[in-house]
Amino acid sequence: MSRPTRAVIDLNALRHNFQLAQSLAPSSQTMPMVKANAYGHGAVEVAKALADSAPAFGVACIEEALELRAAGIKQPILLLEGIFEKSELTLAARHNFWLMVENHPQKQAIIDADLPHPLTLWLGLDSGMHRLGFQPVDIAEVYQALQNSRNVSDKIVVASHFACADDLASDRTAQQVAVFEKTLLDAGLDSSLKSLANSAAVLGWPQTRRDWQRPGYMLYGASPFSEPQPNADQLKPVMCFESAIISLRTVPAGDSVGYTASWTAERDSVIATVSVGYGDGYPRHAPNGTPVLINGMPCPLAGRVSMDMITVDVTDLTTPSIGDKVVLWGADLPVNEVADHCGTIGYELLTRMPARVPRIYL
Ligand SMILES: *Cc1c(COP(=O)(O)O)cnc(C)c1O
Repeated sequence: MSRPTRAVIDLNALRHNFQLAQSLAPSSQTMPMVKANAYGHGAVEVAKALADSAPAFGVACIEEALELRAAGIKQPILLLEGIFEKSELTLAARHNFWLMVENHPQKQAIIDADLPHPLTLWLGLDSGMHRLGFQPVDIAEVYQALQNSRNVSDKIVVASHFACADDLASDRTAQQVAVFEKTLLDAGLDSSLKSLANSAAVLGWPQTRRDWQRPGYMLYGASPFSEPQPNADQLKPVMCFESAIISLRTVPAGDSVGYTASWTAERDSVIATVSVGYGDGYPRHAPNGTPVLINGMPCPLAGRVSMDMITVDVTDLTTPSIGDKVVLWGADLPVNEVADHCGTIGYELLTRMPARVPRIYL
């Protein structure tokens, strides 16, 4: 392989982050979220690396679950949005895919189905995010109808999702926990199995620990918080997105670099061209000044991101050379920091990474 652009994935760091999530809630079960190709890291390899310790995995749709089954993953796999069409039910039953049930049509389809095996269900409760899940007034009736169905095997897990758990100063997370618990108490379901926590809650909200926790982002070694946080500070970044310098030139003061000539040299400058661009998932909207690590030193992006290349101001580096290693994000340059410059979140940068970038597993 000749192009130096690649994402190096440190599976030991992944396992470390999983152990951290598990150790923060020793009496909970930790279900790794591997949706969206494991946040860009490669769902099959990530699931295989965690297969000895994870009791189940979470994905967004049945296609993602089938990919894991085809690769030999044996654990139950939870479909976080449940089914989109009735025809998925038979496949889900056959493959031991667990289903989130979050609306009345999904509930009715399960009750009416003729299935080869009964299903394990998670019931979504809308505790305040108002995106998915049943309303609190409906939960008792829906729970009983499903639990009594011949198509439902185990005890149903009641789940909810937080809107603002990454904001440690917000009182919304506590409010959502209160709504969740009061709803279950009023419904006579206080002793049901429960699941609340995403990464931010695992790390920062101990009062959200229940039977199951559902961390995603933290497993990949990135913090869901914008401020330092003692648990998040122990995470180890899993992906190092790297490339190399492929060209170097001196640009005289006053000349411009790249498409639309959006960066102009204020002094005689040395510009390095790096073989990575928006076709590799490096964000096109990264502005001038976004940091790039070259030989371990932060250097500012200079000029528009092209499809296959970027240009970086390396005037202040001592001896830049063609072939020098470039890190776009990784252990010494958090993906969150790059995302901040681009007006997005690290989640988006990781999940958008295209198949074109080879993943190299350590
Ligand atoms: C994606 C997802 C998670 C994981 O969220 P992170 O912030 O990545 O930890 C948890 N629960 C549900 C329902 C999700 O969709």
